[in-house]
Amino acid sequence: MVDVLVIGGGNAALCAALMARESGASVLLLEAAPREWRGGNSAHTRNLRCMHDAPQDVLTEAYPEEEYWQDLLKVTGGQTDEHLARMVIRESSLCRDWMRGHGVHFQPSLSGTLHLSRTNAFFMGGGKALINAYYRSAENLGVEIRYESPVARLELKEGRFVAAHVGAERIMARACVVACGGFESNREWMREAWGQNEYGEWTADNFLIRGTRFNMGVLLSDLIAQGADTIGEPTQCHAVAIDARAPLYDGGICTRVDCVSLGLVVNRHAQRFYDEGEDFWPKRYAIWGRLVAQQPGQIAYSIIDAKAVGRFMPPVFPGEKADSLPQLARQLGLDERAFVHTVQEFNKACRVGEFDHAVLDDCHTEGLSPAKTHWARPLDTAPFYGYPLKPGITFTYLGMKVNDKTAIHFAGKPSPNLFAAGEIMAGNVLGKGYTAGVGMSIGTAFGRIAGVEAASAAMEVQHAAA
Ligand SMILES: Cc1cc2nc3c(=O)[nH]c(=O)nc-3n(C[C@H](O)[C@H](O)[C@H](O)COP(=O)(O)OP(=O)(O)OC[C@H]3O[C@@H](n4cnc5c(N)ncnc54)[C@H](O)[C@@H]3O)c2cc1C
Repeated sequence: MVDVLVIGGGNAALCAALMARESGASVLLLEAAPREWRGGNSAHTRNLRCMHDAPQDVLTEAYPEEEYWQDLLKVTGGQTDEHLARMVIRESSLCRDWMRGHGVHFQPSLSGTLHLSRTNAFFMGGGKALINAYYRSAENLGVEIRYESPVARLELKEGRFVAAHVGAERIMARACVVACGGFESNREWMREAWGQNEYGEWTADNFLIRGTRFNMGVLLSDLIAQGADTIGEPTQCHAVAIDARAPLYDGGICTRVDCVSLGLVVNRHAQRFYDEGEDFWPKRYAIWGRLVAQQPGQIAYSIIDAKAVGRFMPPVFPGEKADSLPQLARQLGLDERAFVHTVQEFNKACRVGEFDHAVLDDCHTEGLSPAKTHWARPLDTAPFYGYPLKPGITFTYLGMKVNDKTAIHFAGKPSPNLFAAGEIMAGNVLGKGYTAGVGMSIGTAFGRIAGVEAASAAMEVQHAAA
């Protein structure tokens, strides 16, 4: 019998598998996806949010624990477990040497609307390279890896893991780590969770999934059915506004539209609905998916003029381009008069000071609702561009309640040998909201802890049996 069974094939699973193996355990990793689609959402990532007290290779200045914690507290509105959150923060300052040891390389942050050089370490080659490095290292260390092995259910006995079922096969292990993502890819579950809006629309039917199609929440629902304690709420998730022309799954990072704070955003009635310049884009991009989800038809349009070009990462789909505002409205299928009126009212309300996209500048609107509080400049320079937006779901927050050893709780009691890491327990730290790079911090911190704890639980089982 294998010591540690790891279920999942993304960052959290690989961190757990590597640490369990390094702790001396035999490890089997089951990935639902075929080899060419391995790595889940982690393969789409670019960076990790890291605490540091002084400049460190690719990280500039300092990002102390307290500031990281305050950032997290702010975006979650207090819906976070401080003890677990601080564990993530501290781990984020310690993990990078270990990551390098497994073949991960870092590079300086990208420019544009991402003000991240101080806070986030970027993976050279992105998440795909990180995942490939971890798989290579895991294979070299003797971790057994099986692809196309979706686990359908877990066999538990009074909160203790016994076996996992893959098709007709029953796989026993002394301890288990579930690191198999959220339920964002499960459209039926998302539909049920979000329900119908005031217009009778099934909101989630218009969602696009930014990452893997394999995070169906199969074990999340199995564990809930078997009495595991949950954390979080099913509609809470990381959701960004992405190009409405993106594919249903795996569109990845390049479908994100990053010019929101440089212009204005209207719904299908050509009305603005939120402050586009509320805060720096990395602190706000993750609220725009939900904002668009709340609009009729779950669609919106990000509008910029020529002044914004070159100041943000160009999305993969070109924007609609027009020499006049009425023409842009026609190309986007918006009511021409309403659209021109909205832009004119916005332009009139702009109080332009010293435009600086790298700080919370003094360009703002006056007497306009909703206000634009920074980077407000009239849209007056042709050509004008418009990007259609839909909610792009990154990952869901409903998950397993865990303790600081990542043990899954059943009726308030931690399991002795069943652990969780990554998206499936991210809700302990992220009750709502998001700040860029914290997903990988959570997966890396708790993946590493889960691996060590599972290895130690497996040894205890072995000793008890001897
Ligand atoms: C486009 C995009 C960009 C992102 N960029 C960043 C970023 O730059 N920084 C950041 O911090 N976060 C980012 N995130 C979020 C980040 O991807 C997640 O927080 C993190 O990868 C979660 O890791 P995980 O291992 O828990 O899940 P995943 O990486 O999604 O892995 C889950 C794995 O479980 C497997 N699986 C699912 N069900 C089963 C089953 N029943 N049996 C066996 N295997 C199963 C899946 O195939 C998959 O391999 C991004 C996400 C997306 C989609």
